[in-house]
Amino acid sequence: HHALLEVRNLEVEFRTRDGVARAVNGVDYSVDQGSTLAVLGESGSGKSVTAQAVMGILDTPPGKITGGEIFFRGRNLLTLTEKERRKIRGSEMAMIFQDALSALNPVLSVGDQLGEMFTVHRGLSRKDARDRAIELMERVGIPAAKERVRQYPHQFSGGMRQRVMIAMALALEPALIIADEPTTALDVTVQAQVMELLAELRSELDMGLILITHDLGVVADVADRIAVMYAGRIVETAPVHDIYRAPAHPYTRGLLESIPRLDRKGRELYAIKGLPPNPTAVPPGCAFHPRCPLAQDVCRTDEPPLYEVEPERRSACHFWRETLGEPPGPPGPSE
Ligand code: SF4
Ligand code: MG
Repeated sequence: HHALLEVRNLEVEFRTRDGVARAVNGVDYSVDQGSTLAVLGESGSGKSVTAQAVMGILDTPPGKITGGEIFFRGRNLLTLTEKERRKIRGSEMAMIFQDALSALNPVLSVGDQLGEMFTVHRGLSRKDARDRAIELMERVGIPAAKERVRQYPHQFSGGMRQRVMIAMALALEPALIIADEPTTALDVTVQAQVMELLAELRSELDMGLILITHDLGVVADVADRIAVMYAGRIVETAPVHDIYRAPAHPYTRGLLESIPRLDRKGRELYAIKGLPPNPTAVPPGCAFHPRCPLAQDVCRTDEPPLYEVEPERRSACHFWRETLGEPPGPPGPSE
């Protein structure tokens, strides 16, 4: 069995004025064809940087990949030339960004931008490329595509513009799509529609999808697995239902309890106290300990490994049993 994408022990450093920031510190994750991985965490947790490393758009200083491997369809991307990476980017993997307005070209009509994918990469005529552009716009649910194909990005609403970006990403039928906070700039109902569209296209086209988000609330219905990142590491990874049923890491629990929910109406929303650490000064032991309601002395000195909670589940918490709500026992690695 080969995963579509497998990231192994990835390390990325940034040079900053304050010193070296280990933005990604030994991350492992994998995505199968036809499945969705949600990567969750606050801003600065390393989730976008990991994705940029996968896409191969991190090669410019001050960022640098200092360790690990990224296998895509069995090939280690980190051993390829920039020319080979460029070929893969766009045609085999594509990225969707939060801010469609700055990701799209403001002076080209949407039809010309979409059409360019087909003229440049597929050698289609302008006329055929325009037809394909219209088809794509219809496929991502843009009404009146035949007319709107002539319009410019600023003439689209935020949600429609995000659909244009999804169309761009889909144009060459990539095997993997990475969507980095694709709905964060949108209002709640439009968020749900765009998420639904992504999930639909993912299953129709049998792609792999990585959904990067800080909002656990938007991925419940679309993700198969969740990887939670904190301070450049994965702190919990599990099938989506397990995470919602019972998180095995206090950080995940905090994220979960900060989602507004109808059944908790009237109750005050929980927020994780404090802020994520400065990446040049990550606390020793468990990086989450200054914010963790369950922290003990051992947490301040010993960095927790990713304990196996269940065969498909891991948690980097010394007290994952307690977090799961099991009777307290001595902390330690599980079998
Ligand atoms: Fe909290 Fe300790 Fe678990 Fe870290 S290891 S999440 S500080 S209980
Ligand atoms: Mg980000």
